[in-house]
Parts: sequence; C-alpha cells; structure tokens
Amino acid sequence: MIDGAETATTPELFRAQAQELDLADPLGSFRDEFLIPRDTDVIAYLDGNSLGRPTARAAEQMTEFIRGQWANRLIRGWTDEWLRWPELIGDRLGTAALGAAPGQVVIADSTTVLLYKLAHAAVSARPGRRDIVLDTDNFPTDRYVLEGIATELGLALKWITTDPAGGIAPEQVAAAVDADTALVVFSHVAYRSSHLADGQAISRIAHAAGALVLWDLCHSVGSAPVRLDEWDADFAVGCSYKYLNGGPGGPAFAYVNRRLHGQIRQPIWGWLGRRDAFEMAPGYEPAEGMRGMISGTPPILAMLPLSAGLELLEEATIEAVRAKSVLLTEFALDLADAWLTGLGVTIATPRQPERRGGHITLCRADFRAVTDRLWERGVIPDFRGPDGIRIGLAPLSTSFIEVYRGMAVLAEVAAGQA
Ligand SMILES: *Cc1c(COP(=O)(O)O)cnc(C)c1O
Repeated sequence: MIDGAETATTPELFRAQAQELDLADPLGSFRDEFLIPRDTDVIAYLDGNSLGRPTARAAEQMTEFIRGQWANRLIRGWTDEWLRWPELIGDRLGTAALGAAPGQVVIADSTTVLLYKLAHAAVSARPGRRDIVLDTDNFPTDRYVLEGIATELGLALKWITTDPAGGIAPEQVAAAVDADTALVVFSHVAYRSSHLADGQAISRIAHAAGALVLWDLCHSVGSAPVRLDEWDADFAVGCSYKYLNGGPGGPAFAYVNRRLHGQIRQPIWGWLGRRDAFEMAPGYEPAEGMRGMISGTPPILAMLPLSAGLELLEEATIEAVRAKSVLLTEFALDLADAWLTGLGVTIATPRQPERRGGHITLCRADFRAVTDRLWERGVIPDFRGPDGIRIGLAPLSTSFIEVYRGMAVLAEVAAGQA
C-alpha cells in the first residue's frame, strides 16, 4: 500500500492522492515526450505493456531519416553506418535496460524468430541431452516455437505447471532439471500474472544441472530491472514494441552471453550473418559475435522508434522507471482493493512488489464483456482469457490520474452502474 493510502478511501481522496503522486513524480515530464492527441477519445490508456505509445521523437526522427539519410545517402547508407545499427542499438539497449556489457545484444527479426534461432542454437550446443524444460503458462509463441523445435530435432518437452496467478519458482525448476536437460526457457515477467521470476536463482539452478537458460524479456524490458550478465544468463530475447515504444511490429532483440560466442550456431544461415558478407563467397561461415545471429537485411526504418524510445529510457534510467512502476502497480492495487474486490473481482498478480512486473491482472467471470464496455468508454486495458483484465502501466507515459480515471470507470462498469 502506498504511504498515506490508509486515509484514502473515497474517490475524492484517491483522486487527490493521484494528483499528489503526479506532482511528486520525478518522471512526470516524460509524458510530454509522447504523442497524446488533445481530441482523443481515450481517457486512460492501460495497455502500454502490449503496445507502447508513440514518441514525438520517433515521428521526427523517421521523417528526418527518410528525407535526409535515405534520400541522400541512398545505397551508400548501408556501408556508412546502417549495417552496424543492429549491434550499436543492441549495445545501447544492453546498457540501458538489460545489464549486458557491449557486444552481446543485437536487434533483428521478431521475438518469435529469435526464440527459434537461439533455442535451436542452445539445444544443438548440448548434444545427447533430450529435454527442454518450460512452463504451462508461458506465452503461446514460446510454447509453440519450442514444440516445433522438439518435433524437428526429436527432443522432448518437460512441462512445469505454473499457477496463472503466480509464476515460475526456483524450487520448481530445481525439481525439473537433470542430466537430460538441454535448455530451460521462461518469461522473466509472466504475461498474464505479472509474476517476476528470480532470474539469478533460476539461471544458477539450470547451470548446476549442466543446462542452458533462455529468458523471454518481452514483459520486463524497459519496465523491470534485468541483470543478464550478473545472472550469468546464456540467452535472452524480447520485443521492442511494448515498454520500449518501438511501434507496432518493431524488431526484437537477442542476447547471447559472450562466453558462448564461437560455440553456438543459429540455424538460419543468411548472407548478412556471414563473415565478410559482401564477398558473396561460397559456403556459410558465421560472422563473429552477435552479427552471426543476424540472417537477412536489418529493419533499419523500424529501428528508429526503438532508438527514440531508448533515448528516453537512457535519460530517465531504468532504476527510476522501476521505482515509478512499483508505485503505479501499488496504486492500481490499492484502487482494486477499495473498489473491486468487494464486487467479486480477484487479483491475479503477486502482492510483493519485488515479485511483480509492470502490470496487474484482475479477474471476474464476465470481464470479457466488461472489457468491451471499457473500450467503448475510452478506457483501454486488454483482456486475457478466460477472465482477466490486464492493467498495463508504462512508467514513462502513464500518469497516476490516468490510472485513477481508468480504474474509476472499471469500478463503475463492474458494479453494473454503467
Ligand atoms: C509480446 C510477447 C511476444 C511477442 O512475440 P512476437 O514474435 O513479437 O509476436 C513473445 N513473448 C512474450 C512473453 C510476449 O509478451
């Protein structure tokens, strides 16, 4: 509970509390960096964990790039600089958000494709071991990609059953891994419950069994702290279009720990991942380091919004973003406790802030229909079946009064008064 919240019980007091929190918010001015139309029908955007808002810088930098570099440098742009963007922007992301030293992150493809490439590389680096350990509530694309790899390579999937209101615990991993485990794959922040896994403990447990570990960071990156080098993680992937404001379909990122460079090989052998790509020589030989994780032409235009979003994160710092994220989720939980739990709504998100990511999930049997009513009224969370409304709180663009407004409409609709 937020300090002082014990006095805030009525809507007026909660509103006053939201206004105070906004005034005291050291990141408050970052909201002005986003394109939030004046005449919008949206009164509360609570889905920045699915698609972040656009930054004004992204719009400016894209126009500038098209009129400037693309129009003037033309094909020469590739050798000038563009070819290095996947690694340059990857390094910035690694430093700003992933706790990864330079040379270990690259921007490419989509999360799904990078998951395939890295998981395939990982299990191929553990010949003789036949299990991939994963959990039942991981994001669908992770489950499907791993099913595909298991089928392709004759491996077995070993499922850990996780609670949709919680997430993966170190003890569960310890009980599942053994000398047959090639790879374990989990989401750092669970897309449904927002449960934040213990990255360090789980990585250590996987390593003690001789297995490799791959983290999906889609719901952590740009919101919750990630320390890949400190955890000694092996691999990670994540997307740019959620908390990083990279725009719809923006490219993804991959991390490969430096100690594995030269020892693993990803399965999509394209020309731009080859050593000396422009020699166009016969036979594939992987380029050194993260460049070898690339397959085809990098999505240069699509990296611009990511780069602009990263500028904001670099200025704000991930520590300040996390501090606000905790306050936002705490405030949303206080409102849920005051207004919703009495209406049969359950909270499917961990209560301890250190086990929670940047969103909260609220459940009731009729919440699919409630979500439709909210969208009609300009309150935009998202719905995850069977019965969960996810309230996504993007620290750089979400204000406390926006949370208050959205939750007030949710309470009205849930009470059947609207
Ligand atoms: C959003 C998300 C993805 C998305 O994958 P795409 O390939 O970008 O569609 C993957 N995993 C998790 C955990 C996600 O939250």
